[in-house]
Amino acid sequence: MTSMMLTNAMMAAAVLNAQKVMKNPGLAHAEARANGYELTDKTLYQVCRDVEPGEDVTGLAQAMLAIMHKNKGIGLAANQIGDDRRVIVMHCEGFWNLVLINPVITKRSENVTGSKEGCLSFQPTWSNQVTIQRHKIVTVEATTLDGKPFKQKFRGLPGFCVQHEIDHLNGITIFGEDGPPGKTKDPMDGKWKDSSGTAQWKEKP
Ligand SMILES: [Zn+2]
Repeated sequence: MTSMMLTNAMMAAAVLNAQKVMKNPGLAHAEARANGYELTDKTLYQVCRDVEPGEDVTGLAQAMLAIMHKNKGIGLAANQIGDDRRVIVMHCEGFWNLVLINPVITKRSENVTGSKEGCLSFQPTWSNQVTIQRHKIVTVEATTLDGKPFKQKFRGLPGFCVQHEIDHLNGITIFGEDGPPGKTKDPMDGKWKDSSGTAQWKEKP
């Protein structure tokens, strides 16, 4: 696990950005799009890379929060919006606007339970739900946006959410090995495509 240090200016910018996103998610979302961030499958099946020490992910985190809130999600991984760095955001049950850099599950309960999940990468989320077997409790270690080490036990909804998002960083979606509905894996590039051979992602209308 690499540790990250951010400058005071970067930390101040991160706080301002989170406030801005909460105040006007529509405006923040427009800014995210202007910076080239939007839901896409470009990097969805990719194993993401670690954020290096000193690397600034403030802009990425702001875009992720904005896109998550605009789509009324409770979590998002960077590779859902075209960035291959190991960053996730969450917004549920006590973990509000949480940004985790290089998150790793360091402990898992033996007990597993079914979790019915949708995903912002598969719209509409209500008709693309899958029941996944998840660990009941997981311990996650990461770095926060202000460069501090993070260690936390997750259970219940936040526990399912953090496992879902970390799966994303490893190129794994809720559809797992079966792939998204109606798609087959192209043996050439490993991407899930429909029968016409075009990439799976369709922009939301
Ligand atoms: Zn997802």
